[in-house]
Amino acid sequence: MKSMDVGSRIPRLRQAFDGAGCEALLVTRLVNIRYLTGFTGSAALLLVRPDELVFVTDGRYRDQSALELSQAGVGARIRIGLTAGSQKEFLQEETAGVARLGLEAAAVTWAQQRKFDGEWFPDAELVATEGLVEELRKVKDAGEVERMAAAATIADEALARVRHRLAESPTEQQFALELDFEMRRGGASAPSFDTIVASGPNGAKPHHRPSSRRIEAGELVVVDFGAIVDGYCSDMTRTLCVGEPSATARRMVDVVADSQQAGVDAVRAGAEGKAIDEVCRAVITEAGWAEAFLHSTGHGVGLEIHEDPRVASTSTDTLVAGHVVTVEPGVYLPEHGGVRIEDTVVVTDEGCTVLTNATKELAVL
Ligand code: ZN
Ligand code: ZN
Repeated sequence: MKSMDVGSRIPRLRQAFDGAGCEALLVTRLVNIRYLTGFTGSAALLLVRPDELVFVTDGRYRDQSALELSQAGVGARIRIGLTAGSQKEFLQEETAGVARLGLEAAAVTWAQQRKFDGEWFPDAELVATEGLVEELRKVKDAGEVERMAAAATIADEALARVRHRLAESPTEQQFALELDFEMRRGGASAPSFDTIVASGPNGAKPHHRPSSRRIEAGELVVVDFGAIVDGYCSDMTRTLCVGEPSATARRMVDVVADSQQAGVDAVRAGAEGKAIDEVCRAVITEAGWAEAFLHSTGHGVGLEIHEDPRVASTSTDTLVAGHVVTVEPGVYLPEHGGVRIEDTVVVTDEGCTVLTNATKELAVL
């Protein structure tokens, strides 16, 4: 697999400091620390100064942090603090002379803020920054796209292997487990979120949790799932049916399929997230089901299953090449169940590349 360009991320992050009004940034969000350094452990703090990078973790990660940072090509001073007290001392030393220290406003808890302000950094002005690392994360490099494509392929193949088993009247939980097992067997480190299998009336709930309900012929079944490869997620929804659905259900499937295709066709660099949402919503509104499309059209995907940019009526994002987003309109009717069709796509200058390629065929043979 292609390597990711991790080493260029810290210099690009530093370029945002002036605009954010800080001289240095204390990164506390683990997923952002992973993005910036390659570290995959569960505890770390990362101080990004203009001149130096300081990585603080505890004894459990002494060897792992050194290995992962060096593999990622990230040069940092790694300091191992066995206690919270020693970590505080390290960071006090390392921030000496920093007048304005940025914190990640959306990640720091109230308790942390009080601790940082009162005990850890009493001499610095703490600056609330918004989405500095998340902004960088929106645009994926070739190595990131390759991981997401690999995750999507694992999910495609898992569904291809188990979809015929829907005809055996499994419970939703059993079918979800089969999918998860096939993804793990195919090389996923984990599912990218709790797999959704929603049959019959349960399909009217977009984020239904798989239950002990048995899946029967003639019912719509919404299957929403993804895999993780090297930290990167895929996300895909297919709607299936054993045998023949009702006429209304068939029409729901056709309308959502048209909506979804129109959305994918509208994705390209320069398109607004809001506009993609409008395109999908227009098709469903035209069919008379505006009120039954219960969620926004899509979201960014990457190290997290839901991240920026957003594809929604409230989105202020404009797509650029390298963004990876989902297009996933749906219609949810309590009497008929639900239909959702979702692909994960990479934005290009000309349009997009679809990563999720499982068949959209409704019928389970
Ligand atoms: Zn999904
Ligand atoms: Zn999604």
